[in-house]
Amino acid sequence: MIIEELTSDDFLEGLAKSQTVLVPVGATEGHGAHLPLGTDSFQAIDVCRRLAERREVFVAPPILYGVCRSTGQHPGTLSIRSETLKSLLVDIIESLYDQRLRNFVVLSGHAGGTHNAALLEAGEHLLTTLPKARIAVVSEYALAAAEGRALIETAEDSHAGEIETSRMLATRPHLVKAGASEDYPRFPQHILVRNKRHFWPSAVWGDPTKASREKGLKLENIVVTALDRLVTELENFIEP
Ligand SMILES: [Zn+2]
Repeated sequence: MIIEELTSDDFLEGLAKSQTVLVPVGATEGHGAHLPLGTDSFQAIDVCRRLAERREVFVAPPILYGVCRSTGQHPGTLSIRSETLKSLLVDIIESLYDQRLRNFVVLSGHAGGTHNAALLEAGEHLLTTLPKARIAVVSEYALAAAEGRALIETAEDSHAGEIETSRMLATRPHLVKAGASEDYPRFPQHILVRNKRHFWPSAVWGDPTKASREKGLKLENIVVTALDRLVTELENFIEP
């Protein structure tokens, strides 16, 4: 049940079937010379929609902006502040709660540490203001970590590499360009730098040459199945 595609009456009927909503959170950020800026957003949206085909669950309109630290200076990256992301998520979930939704899964396609910290802060805040809410905050990356790793040849793959290129080849091959090569950022340790692009010009962290459509399809299935399990767990979760 894709909320922006429902009528008000559809929404009410949906509530009789499920009080669970997935909130896809993406980012608009540089993903190398070969992947679109919306890669993280596409991944989050696709996984949520796939799960909505498997079981009765609402999918909220996606957040297409995230907190992008290391790609902040790459062309096309549109980053928002942690406070903005936190406020946005709090407002959206409070509004969903007012509409009688009770189980919330915030699924992020962007796995940046600062970004995910903002989502967690929002979730912790909401636990104190919404007494009947159950909340999960998870990144796609975390959902695929264990099972997905077995499929991936690149040990340190994380951004626009084997995993993300495979995912995009599976779902939006027309947006993937050729010619990407393996790379890893070389940031100074512990020292913060103003121009991240200087230390990481490619915006690739991993090996896109190892990507394939088959791997992407398998990875997406792994994520959807793991998300399915998480939703069941959350819906049955009773806090002691
Ligand atoms: Zn990404």
